Amino acid sequence: MKKKIENANLCGDLYKLKTSHICAISSVGRAPHLHWEGRGFKSLIAHIIMDKFPENREFRIVGSASEENKKHFQEDLRRRLYSRAEYLDEEIKSSEILKSPEQIEIINTVNDILSEYVAQFNIEYYPLPVDNYHIIKTEVYKQKVGANSLASFSNKDLVVFVQEKLARQSDLFFAALVLHETLHYAAYIAYGAVDNPDNPNQYKIGMYRAGTASSSYYGKTGHAHFEGLGEAIVTELQKEVFAILVDHPKMKEIRDIYDDPKYDDKKGGVTSPGEWKSEELISENGEHFDIPYGKNREVLDYICSEIFEENQDVFADKRAVLREFFSAHFSGRLLAIAHLVEGAFGKGSFRILGNMKEDSESGQLHLEQFRKSRLNFKKTK
Ligand SMILES: [Zn+2]
Repeated sequence: MKKKIENANLCGDLYKLKTSHICAISSVGRAPHLHWEGRGFKSLIAHIIMDKFPENREFRIVGSASEENKKHFQEDLRRRLYSRAEYLDEEIKSSEILKSPEQIEIINTVNDILSEYVAQFNIEYYPLPVDNYHIIKTEVYKQKVGANSLASFSNKDLVVFVQEKLARQSDLFFAALVLHETLHYAAYIAYGAVDNPDNPNQYKIGMYRAGTASSSYYGKTGHAHFEGLGEAIVTELQKEVFAILVDHPKMKEIRDIYDDPKYDDKKGGVTSPGEWKSEELISENGEHFDIPYGKNREVLDYICSEIFEENQDVFADKRAVLREFFSAHFSGRLLAIAHLVEGAFGKGSFRILGNMKEDSESGQLHLEQFRKSRLNFKKTK
């Protein structure tokens, strides 16, 4: 089977240094696999790998494909997850930069922390192997992964790609990016599969769900929803978990940078355990790293405030409402947040939230729309 790395960037995140970030690449749906996958000898290898990793992650696969083809794809996903060398594109392989011991430590610590963190949402976390993180030379990254992002998680290949430039800049930035992208992996992920009408041994795959984001997996365009909300949730999660990460004993060097008093007025502060308040990171060399998706997060924050106002008997504070959105990201269950949104903004408002894209213009439009909806809702109550 031929690898299609140009399709790998199902999720890219645009982080822009020193200026506010602009539009990001679709997390799901816009790049469905347009080639046919097929059943073949690799199934045998998959069984050996499955025996080696009895507890590995199962993904939901929906769609009209036959059970055999779905099973084949499930095995294929396991190989992508646990047998990276077999899958890596030659050009990417030759442009890969070896990870430093500190970077390996960061990846392992992120996975250790997420195993514990995700458990509070009654979700089992399967660590993403270190081999599934690739630091790629900047020019190859731009060509093969995405021109507009610094790091990305591929739902298709179950790998995190980080641009060399950023990985070299600062361990602090590297940790923030690795955490963000690993949170995309930690999400509820489901695929859709349809059989080739001309050959029952072949099937086509697309994304169906990635956290709260959803897309139609058939057709050429892949219509996607809840992408803006998805990135807002992931980035708020990133802020919360980053506070735990920089406090971890293994992250002493990161902690030392963060504790340097010369950055005190810039960085906000970490209350431990708790919220990471800063909207930017500053490296040991004084470079700035903005926390992305500001407008999308403003929408989420506004929605959580108003839901809290509407449900003060149920939630202790606004943060408790935000946790319902975190929970939806990991479980894939949208019903609870749909009820909460519609209970504060009226019928149909959750569907409108689904139209928010990742760019700040879309964020601003939705912020205005939700303010209006809230006023109307209060008037007619
Ligand atoms: Zn993201």
